[in-house]
Amino acid sequence: MKIYMSIDLEGICGTTHWDEVTRGGERYAEFQKQMTAETAAACRAALEAGATRVYVRDGHDSAENIIASELPESTVLIRGWSRHPYMMMQELDHSFDAAMMIGYHSLAGSPGSPLAHTMSTRVSAITINSLPASEFLINAYTAAYERVPVVFVSGDRALCDHASTIIPAVRTAAVKYGSGDSTVNLHPEAARNRITEQVKLALSGALSDCLLPLPESFDVAITYTSFTDAYRYSFFPGAESAGPNTIRFRSDDYFEVLKFFLFTL
Ligand SMILES: [Zn+2]
Repeated sequence: MKIYMSIDLEGICGTTHWDEVTRGGERYAEFQKQMTAETAAACRAALEAGATRVYVRDGHDSAENIIASELPESTVLIRGWSRHPYMMMQELDHSFDAAMMIGYHSLAGSPGSPLAHTMSTRVSAITINSLPASEFLINAYTAAYERVPVVFVSGDRALCDHASTIIPAVRTAAVKYGSGDSTVNLHPEAARNRITEQVKLALSGALSDCLLPLPESFDVAITYTSFTDAYRYSFFPGAESAGPNTIRFRSDDYFEVLKFFLFTL
């Protein structure tokens, strides 16, 4: 069984402010370690549940956060950005049995986390077919494009609730919740234990229950915080202006949507 894991940092236990998730920040190292520990816990659980290979995609900022030597040996770590349109799902293909997302966070405009955003802090909202789009949704559609079920997600509670509305059978591990500019967190070890338990359960069920149906067409809108971004990106081939801060893009092919995101987010 081959498993794919996409990892972010804003939904890792404890992370609350931007300096904690930014390399060079005074307390970044503490949360880099917890990101690695939560990933390692998920990998070990997957291997115990029958996985033979786990691909780990470091998907945060520079994508050079996870400490490889602290992961189990049967893992492959993807670091940096090739600039392939799959972005946080780079190297995913239909040969994987299941995908998981660790450390994921609330979407732009949500009060679920002080670190809420979608892909870029320059964006105030993204919708796909009128659904508010999180990084979870964007990447879950990428998995659907490759016919890979998304069976597990960890992160803040609002993100986990959002994920359950998209894929009702997905297993979730909420490690914290946001309250204003604060977060309320499990103990780091309790967070790892919750991840371990839910990853094992996720792989013991029918994986195909978590296969997300891919829409037949996509109507995407991006609203930027600055009208100057909306003006510039409205010139992307096929995009159009839809208000001072918003652009719109339509396609029947999700890969075209991902190419649009690659150049406009
Ligand atoms: Zn991130």
